[in-house]
This record gives sequence, structure tokens and C-alpha cells, in this order.
Amino acid sequence: MKVGDFELDVFSAGRYRLDGGAMFGIIPKPLWERLIPPDEKNRIELDTCCVLVRTGGQQVLIETGCGDKFNEKEREIYQFEPGVTIESALGRRGVDPASMDLVVLTHLHFDHAGGATKRDASGRVIPTFPRATYVVQGGEWEDARNNFGVMKTTYRPENFEPIREAGRLRLVEGDLDLCPGIRLLVTRGHTRHHMSVQIESRGETVLFTSDLIPTRSHLRGPYVMAYDLYPQETMTRKLDILAQAEAGGWRLVWSHEPFWRMGRVVKSDRGEFAAQEVKMMSG
Ligand SMILES: [Zn+2]
Repeated sequence: MKVGDFELDVFSAGRYRLDGGAMFGIIPKPLWERLIPPDEKNRIELDTCCVLVRTGGQQVLIETGCGDKFNEKEREIYQFEPGVTIESALGRRGVDPASMDLVVLTHLHFDHAGGATKRDASGRVIPTFPRATYVVQGGEWEDARNNFGVMKTTYRPENFEPIREAGRLRLVEGDLDLCPGIRLLVTRGHTRHHMSVQIESRGETVLFTSDLIPTRSHLRGPYVMAYDLYPQETMTRKLDILAQAEAGGWRLVWSHEPFWRMGRVVKSDRGEFAAQEVKMMSG
């Protein structure tokens, strides 16, 4: 699809499952299970949404999905969609990983950065995008290396250390224009230096929320994941972003939305934010 002068593709790097209760934090199950029905183990199926932006000059990838470096037990727990990775998804679009210029990782949890690296034929872990510069917040990089967080298996050195070793890493600090029209916004809450990505061309705006708003079912204030380090910050920033999105007619892409690729924010009769689907050509 076109966003001003840019070409945008929003697609899945593979589905997986997480505990429904953890995804909705303090929200009681009778409320969230109507939004996304759980399986017999209380897991809900989620997507890993990635965005490819062609600016004319550059190819920029936002997020890389879970990757394919898990052991058998982890595959059982997370139910990763067989055979679907960032590479296979790009392959279906005729995009060679070696053609990627920039890869933005909004944070380094495995369901966002897992596809950033892969095993080569010899079993060595190498960057999936050999020519790309990978862009990460410096604070997030430090937190990942120190495994700063409540979940001890979500930062996995194999997903990010090979990027630095290969000399493909660019650390940035704070809000930043990555290139004309692509702005990185630090939206703290999920992690200390979590980013959202704003794409703007000729007055049209798309915001990749990442885990600030993981699905369209997380628009209300208290609908915050139990995984978030600072839920109150997530809530405040989310409502602020939603107000801007509604006023500006932005389209939103959520990190893990299982049913839609993109939506627009509207205010309901009761004054609450709601989402309307924006159909895209491809999925
Ligand atoms: Zn996530």
C-alpha cells in the first residue's frame, strides 16, 4: 500500500501463542476471552507483525518476528507457526534479505528480535540481513545484555550479540529521525527504552505501536500486558498516542494483533477509543 511517497507492506513473520492472562494483565478473563478466545491451555494465538517500508531510496524493515532457533520444548510451549519466519515471509514477497538497508528492532524481546539472526549451515548464528544496519536504542541494548526485566528467558544473547560481532549494530539514544519520514519514538512502559515507529509521507501517517499497544483489544487504559515493566507509563503514553492518532487520522499497526493488519482510531459514543479496520491489499 502507498503512504504518501512510501510503499508499505505489513505482514506476519509467523504466529505463536502466549498466556492470555499475561497478555491482559489485570483484566478479568471473562472480559478478555471474548476478545481473543484462549485454547485449552489458556494461551491465545497472536501474530508477529512486521513492516517493510520502501522510501524510494532505502528498504527499511521494522521487526523480525520470533525466528527459528528454539528447542523442542519451547516450540511446544509457544506453538510457533511451522515454516513461517521473517525470511520465508520476505521470500514470498520476492525480497532478498541481503537487499535490506535498515532493520529497526523496537526492543530486543525474542518475539521481536528473534528473526534478526539465524543459524547458517554450520550451526553458527549470524545476522539474517547481512548488509543491513540494525538500529536499537542504546539503553535497550544494555538492558538486554544485563537481562533487565521480570522474564528471564525473553532476552536471548543469540538474537542480538551476533549483530554486534558482525559490525552491523547502530545504537541510538532517544527520539530520532531515522531518515526523512521515519521517526523513532521512545514509548517507555513495556521496557525502559521500548520504541514505536512513526512513518509519515505527504501528510499521511502510520504508527507501528509495537508493544505499547500489542493488539486492537488493548486500546483501553488498563488493558496492559503483565509483561510490562511499568504498566502505568504504558497506560499514560498509550492514551496520549491514541488521542494524537484519532486527531490526526493516523493508521495504526499493532505488534501482535491476530485478526487485522491495520486500523484507524475513532472515539466511541462513550468517549472511549475504538479501532476500525483498514483493509490492505496483501496480508
Ligand atoms: Zn512483543
